[in-house]
Amino acid sequence: MADTARLLLLGGTGEAAALAKRLAGDKRIEAITSLAGRTRSPAAIAGQVRSGGFGGVSGLAGYLTAEKIDLLIDATHPYAAAMPHAAAAACANVGIPRLRLLRPPWQPEAGDRWIATADLAAAAAALPGLADRVLLTTGQRDLDAFAALRDIWFLIRLIEPPAGGLPLARCEVRLDRGPFHAEDEIALLRDNRIGALVSKNSGGAATYGKIAAARALGLPVVMITRPPQPAGETATTLDACQAWLDARLG
Ligand code: NAP
Repeated sequence: MADTARLLLLGGTGEAAALAKRLAGDKRIEAITSLAGRTRSPAAIAGQVRSGGFGGVSGLAGYLTAEKIDLLIDATHPYAAAMPHAAAAACANVGIPRLRLLRPPWQPEAGDRWIATADLAAAAAALPGLADRVLLTTGQRDLDAFAALRDIWFLIRLIEPPAGGLPLARCEVRLDRGPFHAEDEIALLRDNRIGALVSKNSGGAATYGKIAAARALGLPVVMITRPPQPAGETATTLDACQAWLDARLG
């Protein structure tokens, strides 16, 4: 490894941005944050940023070699289903260390009414008869799964205005980036007469407000189970990432 280690940080999350900020002052490391390029106006990120897919495992392996990457931290979202597996395979092929940064999932508390579902289709199947008005926070690309539910009204919260039309018969879009606080979420649920929520178990504080609000109002939350992760080293905090880097860089 050269004097300065080159780190590829797979991003698209608040943790990745926070880690990039923390590493910006570390002279031992040259970090490059990689974004999928889906968000048209991503939040500012410290240091170098690249954008767009790599082209699967071979594309990523080629990038790691061409860019002389020494280490990879995968800080993609817990529901990024493909990238963590591609990163694991590409790092194994090229022979560089990889760490998965994964926030712990939320755990149900007394008063929570969670309905665990395996995937988006199962979440949609759980809604008829449960509620007529639903808050959906899974993201624009996940809306197709709910398209057949023409009698349910959806409040859809998105970070950016939707690209193209929405597949839902009855819905309203609310643009907001968070973090979301429980008291505001209670008001949102009440004002819109929401009867149930559909959520990913994203973990972290920024979007927990809706979960606390649902508990306070006694509303069910249809909770989509996380996708499986590749085997390998995992950290749940920025400090643990720092320790992993320190162990490799001295
Ligand atoms: P995904 O299913 O794991 O990724 C799909 C494809 O997008 C990958 O195969 C890869 O394309 C490209 N990609 C994903 N993350 C990338 C990154 N950090 N840098 C470069 N290319 C990337 O993930 P996704 O669910 O589509 O999410 C896309 C991005 O949004 C991720 O970075 C994730 O952290 C962020 N995000 C996702 C969610 C969610 O709920 N899924 C929520 C918040 C943020 P190639 O195969 O061409 O390399």
